[in-house]
Amino acid sequence: MNKTDALIIGAGPTGLFTAHQLKLIGLDCEIVDNLDKIGGQCIELYPDKPIYDIPAVPECTGEELTNNLINQIKPFNIKTHLGERVDEVKKDGDNWFVKTNLGKTFLTPNVIIAGGVGSFEPRKFSPKECEKFENKSIFYSVKDKTIFEGKTVSIFGGGDSALDWAVELSKSCKVNLIHRRDDFRGAQATVDKVHELAKSGKINLFTKYQLTNVSGKDNLESIEIKHDNKDIKTIKTDFALGFFGLIMQLGPIADWGLNIDKKTVAVDTEKFETNQKGIYAVGDICSYPGKLKLILSGFHEGALAARACFKLARPNEKYRFEFTTSSKTIKDRLGVKSD
Ligand SMILES: Cc1cc2nc3c(=O)[nH]c(=O)nc-3n(C[C@H](O)[C@H](O)[C@H](O)COP(=O)(O)OP(=O)(O)OC[C@H]3O[C@@H](n4cnc5c(N)ncnc54)[C@H](O)[C@@H]3O)c2cc1C
Repeated sequence: MNKTDALIIGAGPTGLFTAHQLKLIGLDCEIVDNLDKIGGQCIELYPDKPIYDIPAVPECTGEELTNNLINQIKPFNIKTHLGERVDEVKKDGDNWFVKTNLGKTFLTPNVIIAGGVGSFEPRKFSPKECEKFENKSIFYSVKDKTIFEGKTVSIFGGGDSALDWAVELSKSCKVNLIHRRDDFRGAQATVDKVHELAKSGKINLFTKYQLTNVSGKDNLESIEIKHDNKDIKTIKTDFALGFFGLIMQLGPIADWGLNIDKKTVAVDTEKFETNQKGIYAVGDICSYPGKLKLILSGFHEGALAARACFKLARPNEKYRFEFTTSSKTIKDRLGVKSD
């Protein structure tokens, strides 16, 4: 069981800056995110797009903003649990008991939900039988490409992820690339590379086909794909990878007894606390009169929620407001030299 002063759900820009604010005032925190990378919408939806309305940063991309936020919290060595969705939040005395889908548990007086538009979940294959093979021979992201070495891998999808992995894995595996259309949506250079590899027989290309069935005992043995013209092929394969993009789901947050309206959580604007004491909501997921779904709003909301956490985490101490420019305590926490 992990004990912490505050648990942050969501490693988007709001969650990251909220972690900074908590550590600055001397509280511990840990962060959980369902995605396998840090950055929320900025990194998942628009890493290369320039943002023009971050205060004092005239222009930066989603990826640059994320990297800057990561650098800003680096001195604090914050424990981040990626690829895990928070499924359960329930009261345990004065604390909240929190559990992830992988069974990790936390005990904390403060839960800060910085869950954006909900958890990003991969869009999955439609045949129900695929569930049985999930995380064994069917994957929706690649964590360790070495498991595919020398095997047959059937990759589904027509965007950058599918194409990039088809090119990459063709170096060490037998690759089938299957897409429901004739044209691909990825970067032109990668599309060209895929066609070149298909021509030289390094990739088997199947277009206008979709997955209709899978079979195998414990592991996948073959897949059945169907062409638009109803032609059916059965292909022997060891693995199937699906890259169909992500869907956003409010998911388990809806079951934690919070005031939810239109997929957002109602909060006050003093502490950004929900209807449950010790549970706060900040960033895109919170709602209050005048709420702006902008990154800068999330930063402000996180700063206030962090101060509110102090009372429950340190009931016998008084929170003292300090500037970073002049506080020796803050500089010590950041590991920088005081004047
Ligand atoms: C195309 C586009 C362009 C944009 N441009 C701008 C702009 O120019 N300026 C601007 O200010 N804003 C912009 N935005 C909006 C901005 O990206 C959001 O306001 C911001 O990302 C919200 O940050 P957040 O941290 O609250 O949520 P998110 O970035 O959505 O992060 C939330 C994180 O929480 C995780 N999560 C949710 N539920 C769970 C759970 N149960 N367990 C574990 N993890 C969970 C999700 O996986 C996600 O990573 C843009 C948005 C888009 C889509």
